[in-house]
This record gives sequence, C-alpha cells and structure tokens, in this order.
Amino acid sequence: MSPARRCSRTACARPAVATLTYVYGDQTAVLGPLATFAEPHAYDLCSEHSERLSAPRGWEVLRLAPDPDAMGPSSDDLLALADAVREAERPPAAITLGAVPDEGREVGRRGHLRVLRPVED
Ligand SMILES: [Zn+2]
Repeated sequence: MSPARRCSRTACARPAVATLTYVYGDQTAVLGPLATFAEPHAYDLCSEHSERLSAPRGWEVLRLAPDPDAMGPSSDDLLALADAVREAERPPAAITLGAVPDEGREVGRRGHLRVLRPVED
C-alpha cells in the first residue's frame, strides 16, 4: 500500500482528502476528489483545510463531491468535469479563430478551434 497523501498546507500533516486545482484562465478554484496524478496547479488538502478553503479575491470556488461516499450516479460527470477543467488549463501555443494564417503549423484541434504553433526559422 502506498503512503497516504498529505495535505499540502505548510505545517499540516493530516491526510489529504481532496485536490484543489487553480484554473487561472477562469479565475476558479476547483475542489474535487483526490487527483490521480500530480498537476502543476493542483494541491492536495485535508478535510479541515478543504472546508476552510477561501479563494483569492475575485475568484470563484467550485466544490465537486466533497464526500466520496455521497457520490451518486453523477460522479462520473463530476470527474469528467474536473478532468475537463484540468485539460482546459493546459495552454495551447496559440488559438486562432476563423481564418488560419499562412505561417504556423497546425498541431491539434479542439472542436472548431485550431491549435497552432509558430514556425521557427
Ligand atoms: Zn491540512
């Protein structure tokens, strides 16, 4: 069995029960179930610190399924939402709407959006 995850707050040694992810683009702090993978903007929190969580000024706090035992049939949706939020946080090199410039190489798509990376030369 792997060692228990710990709260990321300074001087707090309680076990982590939730993961807080900062979505800078939307100024939203998402508190959800413990993340499977370590993310650059995610912090594990114990129950006490997750309850006392306060977002920075102007930010919203989105709480997802605080109690795993209370998670109903919608838990997959909540997890999908958490994944979507984390996915959205990964910044593409550039997003171009509509016309595609001559320079730039298409490296991916998100729906109707094209993700472009500048040509280096
Ligand atoms: Zn804590």
